Amino acid sequence: MKAVGINGYGTIGKRVADAVSCQDDMKIVGVTKRTPDFEAKMAVEKGYDLYISAPEREGLFKDAGIEVSGTINDLYDQLDIIVDCTPEGVGAQNKANIYEKKGLKAIFEGGEKHDQIGQSFNSFSNFDDSIGADYVRVVSCNTTGLCRTLNPIKNLAGIKKVRAVMVRRGADPGQIKKGPINAIVPNPPTVPSHHGPDVQTVMYGLNITTMALLVSTTLMHQHNLMVELNNSVVVDDVIDALEKTPRVLLVEASKGIGSTAEIMEYARDVGRPRGDLFEIAVWKESVNIVEGELYYMQAIHQESDVVPENVDAIRAMLEMESDSVKSIEKTNKNMGIIE
Ligand code: NAD
Repeated sequence: MKAVGINGYGTIGKRVADAVSCQDDMKIVGVTKRTPDFEAKMAVEKGYDLYISAPEREGLFKDAGIEVSGTINDLYDQLDIIVDCTPEGVGAQNKANIYEKKGLKAIFEGGEKHDQIGQSFNSFSNFDDSIGADYVRVVSCNTTGLCRTLNPIKNLAGIKKVRAVMVRRGADPGQIKKGPINAIVPNPPTVPSHHGPDVQTVMYGLNITTMALLVSTTLMHQHNLMVELNNSVVVDDVIDALEKTPRVLLVEASKGIGSTAEIMEYARDVGRPRGDLFEIAVWKESVNIVEGELYYMQAIHQESDVVPENVDAIRAMLEMESDSVKSIEKTNKNMGIIE
């Protein structure tokens, strides 16, 4: 059993902790919190050993009556790998100031910059390049969503060029300080957005240009893709390829799943933990080929789609599995991802 720690038990960190805990070849040795809030209390109630990431804040945890196992300095030596789920920019500092000095392998999330970590990861695109690696960044939720569906399409028909317009959620459901509340915001207002170059960090050489805007929703991101193909295929070939791809779920508006709200309702109805949807949902009706160009629409549950990828990244970096297909299968089975 490989020993895994989580630095930053927030939106992504708590989900990665649970995903690791249900695997049979790795376990969570400890999670860290900076603030003694309800998440810290729940981590302890769930049975995780809790460590304080800012040792000078120990008194706050005592005052809040939250039992801790020590500070983060007590955790490092127990670990084979740490998954850094701290807010954007903190991970890169931790890499330089702590993990490299300790010789501790670390995974970072999409808020960190590719250049500062050196290697980016997506299970379907470039698993092999992270085998044995010390520092790996799991690409962002949007990039993960793009890669999940573009990979099978590339394998099916070859890709000449991708253009994507991405409608991004303004905030996560638990965030009260972000927006917009009532606006549509080109974000960034410049073209292309950073998402295309981010895809290229894992799908090397892909010709992709992206535009993005923020809207007043917290549930999911939504993507609109236009893909020029190298080889001629028909719509059914594309649907078939997407249906066979793990972590991609075909949904149908005609069956009542015509919006991100209904996708989230579906995830709750099938009993997913926290109502998460780890798969990328593609609207079956949206898949069309017009004059040789493929069009489709998809939705991304930003809080959870990267979670299984983190588990696969652990396997690659600790050389527990050299075959991406086997790792994906194992992760999915243990997390209850059936698609
Ligand atoms: P979050 O704010 O929900 O959680 C971050 C956690 O880190 C919190 O528990 C916070 O208390 C703790 N923390 C804050 N400062 C810290 C510090 N200096 N040291 C240690 N811990 C600290 O953030 P999140 O949404 O989980 O994002 C984490 C990473 O995942 C970011 O890189 C983000 O870009 C990426 N990501 C987020 C989403 C999303 O939609 N939320 C999706 C994909 C990737």
